[in-house]
Amino acid sequence: MAQKFYSTSSAGRFVDLKQAVLRSLPSDNGLYMPAEVPEPNEVLQPDWREWSFAELSYRVASAFFDGSVPEKDLREMVGQAVNFDAPLVKIAESVNILELFHGPSLAFKDFGARFMARLMGWLTREDDRELTVLVATSGDTGGAVASAFHRVEGTRVVVLYPRGKVSALQEKQLTTLGDNVTALEVRGSFDDCQRLVKAAFLNEHLSEKLNLTSANSINIARLLPQAFYYFRAAQQMPEEAKPVFVVPSGNFGNLTAGLLARQMGLPVSHFVAATNLNDVVPSYLRSGHYEPRPSVATISNAMDVGAPSNFDRILELHGREHCRVAGQISGFHFDDRATRRAIREVKETTGYTIDPHGAVGYLAAQQWRKESGDNEMVILETAHPSKFLDVMEEELGPGAVEIPERLACLAARDKIAVDMGDQEGPFLDWLSGMMS
Ligand SMILES: *Cc1c(COP(=O)(O)O)cnc(C)c1O
Repeated sequence: MAQKFYSTSSAGRFVDLKQAVLRSLPSDNGLYMPAEVPEPNEVLQPDWREWSFAELSYRVASAFFDGSVPEKDLREMVGQAVNFDAPLVKIAESVNILELFHGPSLAFKDFGARFMARLMGWLTREDDRELTVLVATSGDTGGAVASAFHRVEGTRVVVLYPRGKVSALQEKQLTTLGDNVTALEVRGSFDDCQRLVKAAFLNEHLSEKLNLTSANSINIARLLPQAFYYFRAAQQMPEEAKPVFVVPSGNFGNLTAGLLARQMGLPVSHFVAATNLNDVVPSYLRSGHYEPRPSVATISNAMDVGAPSNFDRILELHGREHCRVAGQISGFHFDDRATRRAIREVKETTGYTIDPHGAVGYLAAQQWRKESGDNEMVILETAHPSKFLDVMEEELGPGAVEIPERLACLAARDKIAVDMGDQEGPFLDWLSGMMS
């Protein structure tokens, strides 16, 4: 039977894979969840430790999507999406770093975005119209999504970013791809970009004509592939290991994928949610009260989220009972001063260069060990330190971080972007004109 998806706001109604992925958000404001989480023995056959990362990822994907996507197509999609590794690096006794930045945009979002792009292309392969993906970005998401959809047949992407508010290299990631990727440089803020995207979706005529879809982080097709690398981490550990996973978190998609992986049989002893000052989840875990609030800016800016969009999924996975959630996940938060200190400390004591997001994870791992004793720890390193060059050089000195070839070579490429004001009228006219 093909997998069905339900909304966390209306449990009894189901949609198929195509609707869940192309709609992204149910109209009742809930979040799509898979009706069936695969059983442990479905995925982890006795020889699973010997599988390649591509095979492992395919098996996890197939447990979710079997019956919706034929094996051959699913294998091809997974193989193209996961064409880089997630190596585990031991930096100290019982402290391991899972490097999730070996993809094209140097952040873990590549896993979800690359799989979603291929799945969307496949789901619409027989539609006679192209799919238009609209995405507003404050920096990181746009790079992963643009690169993921680049040259995917039957799709085109329009990325809106706020002028002067993304880093120089982030801007290059958005504006130098060309082909089916168009960058719009909006004279306004990230909120203006989001408002424009929303206006396009609310315009039914345009939305229908352009076959619009969104690529935001709550899309179920971005969430599920994030389970792949938890299994990959376990493969690289001793067979008897039952690690604690420490997850630097913002919208909590990454951690939610870990919880799903555990339901599917991944050996895990505990999860630790690591946040910066945006600590609504750690404070919920302590008090049982969930109080979203406006985000505050920090140096681990991809985690500056005041109302984590996957929180409802975490509740859903634990029967909406606080004591069950708190039994599985512990949460700690740290400020920028502690984060900067951790970047220096990790370098001095282990030689490893950790980015500000991973550094928050490192602090949480230390805290967990202090409170709960020795445990094999896996800290998810969510981005490459070169993406946050300013902070890294302030702490470790100029030239301390090597810029990977795939990022460095962008610097020489020419930026191509459409200059756009922050008004809805001209934006909708421009979009409409794209068709003709
Ligand atoms: C998006 C992001 C995060 C937060 O991940 P969530 O799944 O939203 O919790 C952490 N670190 C980096 C570098 C990111 O880009």
